[in-house]
Amino acid sequence: MNHAAAITPAQLLAGDRRALARAITLIESTRADHRRQAEVLLEEVLPKTGRSLRIGISGPPGVGKSTFIEAFGRHAIAAGKQLAVLAVDPSSRLSGGSILGDKTRMSELSRMKQAFIRPSPAGLTLGGVARRTREALLLCEAAGFDLIIVETVGVGQSETAVAEMVDLFLLLLLPGGGDDLQGIKRGIMELADLVVVNKADGDLAPAAERAAADVANALRLMQPLHKSWSPEVLRCSALRDIGIDHVWDRAQAFATAMGASGELPARRRIQAKAWLWHELSDNLLETLKAHPAVAERLVELEDKVAAGRIAPASAARQVLAAFLGG
Ligand code: GDP
Repeated sequence: MNHAAAITPAQLLAGDRRALARAITLIESTRADHRRQAEVLLEEVLPKTGRSLRIGISGPPGVGKSTFIEAFGRHAIAAGKQLAVLAVDPSSRLSGGSILGDKTRMSELSRMKQAFIRPSPAGLTLGGVARRTREALLLCEAAGFDLIIVETVGVGQSETAVAEMVDLFLLLLLPGGGDDLQGIKRGIMELADLVVVNKADGDLAPAAERAAADVANALRLMQPLHKSWSPEVLRCSALRDIGIDHVWDRAQAFATAMGASGELPARRRIQAKAWLWHELSDNLLETLKAHPAVAERLVELEDKVAAGRIAPASAARQVLAAFLGG
């Protein structure tokens, strides 16, 4: 039975959870007919998207991302929001186990009817995960969710992919820190609109204060990304629910300031264009690799390049010629 065929835009727009979950499954499918159905569905609901605040949350493993999202989500829901949490976790492909997506995470939120939690699609490349997460985000918006959190683990390049699909990028850090800022690359710090030092409680409180001061110093040396917002450093305890309401207030302030200046809609337009180019390059590469004449030439040319008998640039030209010629 083809369950996927039964999803209608009307079901999705009415906020039907099962329809939403199934629509996301359709998006994650590798079958060409599923992809086409997903595209049609997306086209139809696209006018109803874009009415949420999109927040990306990243941080090193163990920083308290899921604890934070539970606490933050509670505040947002209390303020009347409908929250969807999506994950970008390419680690499952590399390690065979997922850093983010086990079922016990965010157990409280997952029981609330105002929240929808979707773990990361497994076994895909980062590009694949990011593409599907972007589409899932739009589906969640169409289904009426007005706060979308995209979570990722602070290793590798997934933060950049997430920052490219959200309005606000929030980086969670641990107390302590020091010079290397917990393995968080400088480029990632530069993407952050809010840096939140978590675990600012009990014995860890003084270290959290020091970490916040270190980060504030580091941020002062960086070029701000936006005219209407300078990155802020906050402290909280997700576990004890201290300072979370303030983080929520500042996230709201960000949305207000960036909306009023026009930078938020401008950022979304830039992101949509960048997305088009990602789609184009991914699709082109897939089409090229699937081309029979190219596949043959590729095997041969790869060997020659490896053996140093032909330069990569000239091999690439020959592959393109085979592609365009056939
Ligand atoms: P994640 O891997 O980033 O999702 O981190 P988790 O949310 O699973 O938290 C990792 C550990 O840190 C757990 O044992 C949490 O109970 C603990 N933790 C999370 N937030 C806080 C906090 O605000 N204070 C303290 N002391 N511990 C916390």
